Amino acid sequence: EVLAVRARTRPLGAGGLVAVILDDVTESRRVEAVRRDFVANVSHELKTPVGALHVLAEAVQAASDDPVAVRRFADRMTHESARLARLVQEIIHLSRLQGAEPRPLPRPVPVGNVLAEAVDRNRLAAQAAGISVAVIGNTDAGVLGDESQLVTAVANLLENAVNYSPRGTRVGLGVRGVGDTVEISVTDEGIGIAEKDLERVFERFYRADPARSRQTGGTGLGLAIVKHIVTNHGGSVGVWSSEGAGSTFTLRLPAYWEDPGEQAEPPDPD
Ligand code: ADP
Repeated sequence: EVLAVRARTRPLGAGGLVAVILDDVTESRRVEAVRRDFVANVSHELKTPVGALHVLAEAVQAASDDPVAVRRFADRMTHESARLARLVQEIIHLSRLQGAEPRPLPRPVPVGNVLAEAVDRNRLAAQAAGISVAVIGNTDAGVLGDESQLVTAVANLLENAVNYSPRGTRVGLGVRGVGDTVEISVTDEGIGIAEKDLERVFERFYRADPARSRQTGGTGLGLAIVKHIVTNHGGSVGVWSSEGAGSTFTLRLPAYWEDPGEQAEPPDPD
């Protein structure tokens, strides 16, 4: 929807030609509104762990002659401060992705590398949670983009799959070609997502179950980061879920094949 149109006239040379430049201000207003909302959300989200740390510090002071209680409060302070550090780190990451920062030059990225690195980052957490992770499909595909950002996107999905699944379940990391795109999917056998939450989970700070998210050290930003990375790469995200049965998150990215014309010709035997 165009909220306002600004017209500017500019004489072009001696011929008296006039160019009318229409500036669509809708986009700049939208960007401004997104920024305002973001600042409001961030202030609200930061208040929770900072408030918790304050209360816990007071509790430590009050319980100084009870070493067991002090230990318990200190453990919770460690948990809250780790979550706060992560929140700050992810806020910075997301605001960079949303901002006008120059994007890194796209390069051919082998999907196999992205999946291997994303699995590696979640190996310990999956082991601790008793969850097995299997890669399914042909990982020879390539996409054009920034490898470290794509690793972050897939690793965030894997992390959620592990966090929102019970012990002894499996997580599948699939890859397949669909038309001109490469589809990467992460399927779990976890708690699933209710239909009313499904279309909102990619919004920043939206959580279906805030208590569970906080307990797992979640920030509510993981999926917002995934969505920004994928759309910046010209791709799309999707989710399918059934409560109590599991979820599948998919990323579609434009496929990239090396141009065979650019490969060196084999030497002529003659
Ligand atoms: P969080 O840090 O809370 O995990 P995310 O942005 O990564 O934030 O996810 C948003 C919310 O979506 C989560 O709080 C959770 O309610 C839901 N969610 C994400 N992934 C899954 C999953 N694999 N299974 C069930 N729920 C999920």
